[in-house]
Amino acid sequence: MKEHIHPELKVATVTCACGETFQVLSVRDEIKVEICSKCHPFFTGKKKIVDTAGRVEKFIQRAQKALSPEELRKRQRRKKRT
Ligand SMILES: [Zn+2]
Repeated sequence: MKEHIHPELKVATVTCACGETFQVLSVRDEIKVEICSKCHPFFTGKKKIVDTAGRVEKFIQRAQKALSPEELRKRQRRKKRT
């Protein structure tokens, strides 16, 4: 191995948002992740939506708004005009 060109390898602690921690070799001291093999649906077998930026919530809000009585009335008015 050539000297002085390799980064220092150390044991880093990986912390997941679910609380799970484990250790890997890395040049960093600690690594934070949102999902790991303990909580990812692929490994747990449970159906769970992995929502990173509240997208599911936004979609449900949009869908509810679109189906609200006021919005439906507005749409019907628009249709009559054209
Ligand atoms: Zn996890």
